[in-house]
Amino acid sequence: MFKIDWNRRTCSKRGHVTYAPTEPALRARLEAHTELGEVWRCLRCGDFALGAPHGSGPAGQAPLVPRGKALRDLFILRFLAIERLFRGVLIILIAWAVWKFSNSQDAVREFFDQNLTVLKPVTDHFHYDLEHSPIADTIRKSFDYKHSTLLIVAGALLAYALIELVEAVGLWLGRRWAEYLTVVATAAFLPLEGYELTHHVSAVKVCTLLLNVAAVVWILVSKRLFGLRGGVVAFEAERHSASLLEVEQAAGTPRAAVKSA
Ligand SMILES: [Zn+2]
Repeated sequence: MFKIDWNRRTCSKRGHVTYAPTEPALRARLEAHTELGEVWRCLRCGDFALGAPHGSGPAGQAPLVPRGKALRDLFILRFLAIERLFRGVLIILIAWAVWKFSNSQDAVREFFDQNLTVLKPVTDHFHYDLEHSPIADTIRKSFDYKHSTLLIVAGALLAYALIELVEAVGLWLGRRWAEYLTVVATAAFLPLEGYELTHHVSAVKVCTLLLNVAAVVWILVSKRLFGLRGGVVAFEAERHSASLLEVEQAAGTPRAAVKSA
């Protein structure tokens, strides 16, 4: 099966992370001397990297380097963040268009009717009744919307876009509150998306709905939100058990000492 080595993939992009713990026993497991100089085990990929360590101090203060599954999860979260960034920007543009339209409804209506008249000979030629076509009717209907209604629509769109942008920033940074916000906000809009589908089915709508359902389920389960699968305690324990330094610590210390620590 095709398998990505997330640790090496990240190290090749961002470089290794080395750390010299002050505890001598632990230090000995991470350090080695070669003819080229000292080498230190990378906390992410486990390879030895040449040169002085990037940091030092008690093992407890070592940076918690995301490894393996945690790195893959971060990658998925960032994909979702980018998707939300694009959606947020797009919706801001739509909100802006609605707001502009609300301020110049009459001018746009005039412009629309004029152009409809200009196009009439062309569409007549093709025996297409543009003036009474569904598209023209839909557009004409929107001219009858009240100014205040359009402002409310623009405001709601803007609020929705802001939620998407906040989600994007938080997910990119891998924050737990952003995962909660994403799950709650996305799930809240799922019924609306489903309702939309009953009116008009399009590939984009179906894909968006599927992506959102998948995102909600995946975040809920893999991030153990709302106490699922042991909740935040189990999530932190899983993250720490994947830390190379803590694996080395457990390996280098007698079992009894680990338990009492
Ligand atoms: Zn590395």
